[in-house]
This record gives sequence, C-alpha cells and structure tokens, in this order.
Amino acid sequence: MSSDRRPHRMERRTPVWEPPAEILELFPEVSGNTLNGVGETEPRPVAAPMWRDPRTIAHGRVQDHITREYSQHEDLRRGMRPRGRYRPAPLAEERIERSPREWSRAVRRFALGEAGTTVAKVGITELRPEWVFEGYEVNRRWLILLADVMDHDDLSTAPRWEAARAVHASYNRGTAAARELADWIRSQGHEAEGHGGPGAGPVLLIPPAIEAGLGELGKHGSLIDEDLGSGFRISAVLTDLPLVADPPPEPIHVDDFCVGCRVCTDACPPDAIGPDKRLVRGVEKWYVDFDRCLPYFAVSYGCAACIARCPWTKPGRAPRLAATMRRKRAARAT
Ligand code: SF4
Ligand code: SF4
Repeated sequence: MSSDRRPHRMERRTPVWEPPAEILELFPEVSGNTLNGVGETEPRPVAAPMWRDPRTIAHGRVQDHITREYSQHEDLRRGMRPRGRYRPAPLAEERIERSPREWSRAVRRFALGEAGTTVAKVGITELRPEWVFEGYEVNRRWLILLADVMDHDDLSTAPRWEAARAVHASYNRGTAAARELADWIRSQGHEAEGHGGPGAGPVLLIPPAIEAGLGELGKHGSLIDEDLGSGFRISAVLTDLPLVADPPPEPIHVDDFCVGCRVCTDACPPDAIGPDKRLVRGVEKWYVDFDRCLPYFAVSYGCAACIARCPWTKPGRAPRLAATMRRKRAARAT
C-alpha cells in the first residue's frame, strides 16, 4: 500500500498549527460552520462567506487582513485583478435564433477555441435556487462553467506565496474568459453576464460544476476532474441563451479514493480536513472546517496546500487514476 492510501484514522505526525491571538481577534463570535449550515437537514441558500464588501459579511475583518497581506506583497499585488475597468458589451438588437443544441455547441466552440481563452473544459447546467447566494436574485436560467488550469510549478509550492500567484493568475484568466464569452453571447442578442473568482458573482460554483460534469467533490472540499485533476479554478456565465444541460459524466469514484487517502489531511497545518463527510444544508458531503481553515488561509496567502498535495493534481495523473478507480469498481461489481 502506498503512503497516500493509508487508513484515515492514523495519528497525525505533525503538530496541529494554532492560530495567533491577533488573527483570532479578527473573527466574529458566530462560527463560519454554523453560517455554512453544517448539521442542517434542509437545503437553503447560504450567505457568500468571503470576497464581498467586508462591511456586509461576518468575516469582513478577516477578508480585510487577507487583502492587505496580498497588497503588501509586491508580486501578488501586481497579479491582483484590476477592478472597475470592465464594461459589458452592449446587447445586440438583432437576436439570433438557433436550437438549444446548436447554441450549446457554439458556446463550447467559442470558449474552447475561437475566443483565444485558456479554458480547458466547459460544462452547462440549469441554475437551481439553492445555488444563489442569500440576498441575491438571479433571473437567468442557465449556467456555463469554465475550468482554467493553474500553473503546477507555482501551485506545488503551497502554502508559499507562489501558490497564490498561480491561484490569482487562474482567477484572472477565468474571469477574462467568462466575460469574453458573455460579451459574445450578448453580441448574438441574448443576455449573459460573466463572473470569475474569487468572488464569483451571485452563485456558488462547486455544486453546479459537479452537476455540469466538471468533477466530483474531494475530501479537501475542491473539485477533482478526470482530465484536470484538482489544480483548476472555475468561472461562470449566467445566461438566457437556450441551452442543453450536459449529461452526468461516467463517475470516477473519487469517494472510493478519498476514504483510503489522507494526503490532504496530513498536508493541512490546522487540521481542517476531517475523516468523514458532514451533513451540510441537507447534503451529506466532504466539508472543510471553515473555522480551522480560514485562520491559516489568512496567514499563508490562501494556503492551497490540500489541493497542491492531492495525488490527482499532478499533471497527467488524473486520467490514469480515474481509469484505475473505474476498473476497481467494475471488478468489485463482478
Ligand atoms: S487551504 Fe490549507 S488550511 Fe485550508 S483546508 Fe486546505 S490545507 Fe487546510
Ligand atoms: S482530496 Fe485528494 S488528497 Fe484528499 S483524500 Fe481525496 S485524493 Fe487524497
């Protein structure tokens, strides 16, 4: 058995990181896990946890600290997304009509090639009310999810600052791609708006990305895709363009892998990644402890060590692991 397949409940070899008092002092009284609906049995909209006007969110002072840290780091400041310069393209007066299937093909073609973007994968799904953040209203029917792969050399340095450079660069490319696609859809006479990370607009991105076939949820709380592994970020376009939802992909059985792996757990300094799934707003799923993760995230330029160390993240490895997991499942079924 390789070292990343040991049973999960083995003892930690490294001491758990404890947050300094000056970081804890920035946190609100209320637990982030409570705000996220841990233990709740019914689906409900959740408040955006971060990357909003800091005066409007519970963890606004923590967010202020993180953005201050980023802006004081010269290389990261240069990589931060310039704000306020984007103006959506005007909606064309003439509305071009095609079938939903043709539009879906055209969207994919544009995002993956014609636009000159770095999008590696596209998924389409119908928006669900529980994906819209509390306090927002979204009247668009469709969600197009775009995946952008992070630079692995930089990411693999996590939790060093270079990993944040990979994350920012990916968010910036994803945002540009989403806006470019939305502008193109508007040039066809249909409403669309592009959103990119980290504050990716009015909707959650991971649940719809799973629905749209861009991966399964890993124990580290991030996506694991059969082609891209775990080293990618998502941006999104909300639109009225008539589309067809992507069918569910053939499972890669990430759960089977994660139950026997503790690489991300061991890599997590504050021990935020637990051994079992949790009930979160009516869904049993892997969940990263927000109150443990965020203090370390706040002192380490966004950390990302769990994603960086995940065996699926190494370039070229995910397709092989996916094939192995499918083979094992099939063998068990016979
Ligand atoms: S980002 Fe860092 S602190 Fe948060 S869960 Fe991952 S490894 Fe742990
Ligand atoms: S998310 Fe990745 S590192 Fe974590 S348990 Fe699953 S496979 Fe292992």
